[in-house]
Parts: sequence; structure tokens; C-alpha cells
Amino acid sequence: MPIIDIHIHIQPLEMFKPSARALMQHGRRDYETVVKYSSDPRAFLQFLDQADIERAGLINYVSPDVIGFTPGVNDWIANYCKTDPSRLLAFGSVHPYYVTDAGAEVDRLASLGIRGLKVHPSHQLFAPNAYRDGNLGSLAAMYERAQAHQMPVMIHTGTSVFPGARNLYAQPMLADDVAVDYPNLVIILAHGGRPLWMNEAFFLVRRHPNMYLDISGIPPQKLLEYFPRIEDIADKVLFGTDWPGPGVPGIRGNIEKFRALPISGAAQQKILYDNSARIFPSR
Ligand SMILES: [Zn+2]
Repeated sequence: MPIIDIHIHIQPLEMFKPSARALMQHGRRDYETVVKYSSDPRAFLQFLDQADIERAGLINYVSPDVIGFTPGVNDWIANYCKTDPSRLLAFGSVHPYYVTDAGAEVDRLASLGIRGLKVHPSHQLFAPNAYRDGNLGSLAAMYERAQAHQMPVMIHTGTSVFPGARNLYAQPMLADDVAVDYPNLVIILAHGGRPLWMNEAFFLVRRHPNMYLDISGIPPQKLLEYFPRIEDIADKVLFGTDWPGPGVPGIRGNIEKFRALPISGAAQQKILYDNSARIFPSR
């Protein structure tokens, strides 16, 4: 059965701040392979083959203040994914503080082949609903154009341990406004709010027809503890690993542990492949 891992970090590693890079490297004996895959999409595609992964969402976002990523990440990942756009799904981002015309930037990213946008509130230092007080119109413009392009927006939810991350912005409930104001926008709550706010994520996914969650960054052995009623939302859950993020040793191991869970075969099929294939149709 083919698998889509919708949440992998292939990034321009040279942009990392030293403190962020140290956290990425900590306890990771295979960091050299991460370096290799980040510069060699063909080698990375072979790595996906070995893990039986047909397609991968490659997550990038602009975070000059906390991680070090400049707006250049968008062109970098768009270029990387040109090697095989049918298998490598580029995610970019528009940081409202670092762009003059957010709507035009979304248009530009769409023309580059970017398939989704990432919002990382705790690394970008704004709440996902910060446009509500009228002061961050560029954030509203970003959602507006993403909705017009049918470009899904993935919003990080759940804690982050990177130095400088502000977890106040990481609550899933802050994304409720976005779903209310942009009802046709596909929103993916990355990490389902783990490990503190799973109930919020579960509620929102059930409330909003176009809201999904990904299970990346959740140790598979914890998944049913975190989401005991996951089968109720099996149409709205996307498989992802967050590899090579902190605490995610490998992709294959995650898949094997996920498959071993007492989740029905039909629900596993939806989570591992069908839901992401529907949201990100082949081009
Ligand atoms: Zn991630």
C-alpha cells in the first residue's frame, strides 16, 4: 500500500541558527544523511522508496527570529521539488512581518509550484488569528489568497522546545477563527496539538468541514492514548512523521508502529494515503 508522509522537514540547513541546529543534531547519529538528503533530491527519493513512501510534504517556513529561515526558503524548496513534483510536495510560507504584499507573495508561490503553506505561530511569533484585531491585515491577505488558490494551510499546534519558541501561540483553538473566517480553506493542524491540547484539535476537526490534523511528531505508541476516538475522524487525519525533527528517529519505524496499532484497516488506509491524496491531488 502506498503511503503519503505529509510532514517531513527537508530544509536549507545552512540557514539554521546555531542553537536550532544544535537541537536538530542532538542525539541524531544520522545527521550526515539529513545533510545529504537536503542537498540531493534524488538520494532523498531513494530514501522514500526504501520506506514505501510515494509522496512527501516537505515543510518549510520563514522564521528569521527563532530558527533562522529567511524568505529564501520558498524558492529553495520550490527548486528542490522540481526534481519530481509528483512525489515531492513543496510547502512554503508567507511571514506577514517579512513581506510587503502577502497576497501577491501567495500568488507567486503558487506559480512556483508550492502546494501548501505552513504557519508556525510559535516560531513566527504571531497567533494564527492575529488578524482579528485589525492590525495584521497581511495575515488575512495570506489566508484569503491561499483559499482562492485552493492551497491548504498547515498550522503548527502543540509544544515546541526550540530556543525562543513561544508556546502561547501553539494552541489549536487559535485556529478556530481561521476556519470560521475562511470556510473553504483547507487547514491542517500539524501534530494535533500534542502533547497538551489534543481535545481542542479533536473538537475543531469535527466542527469544521475543511479542518484536518496530522499525526506527525506523535510517537505512534502514544497515538491512541492521545486520540482514543481517532476512528471517528479517520477521514480527517493525515499520516506524517516530522522526520528528522527532535524525537523522531526514523520514518520506517513510525510506519511499522502505526500499522501495529489496533486501528481498522479501512481507517489506516485513509490516514496513510487516501486523505492526503484527496487534499493534494496529482498534477
Ligand atoms: Zn514539523
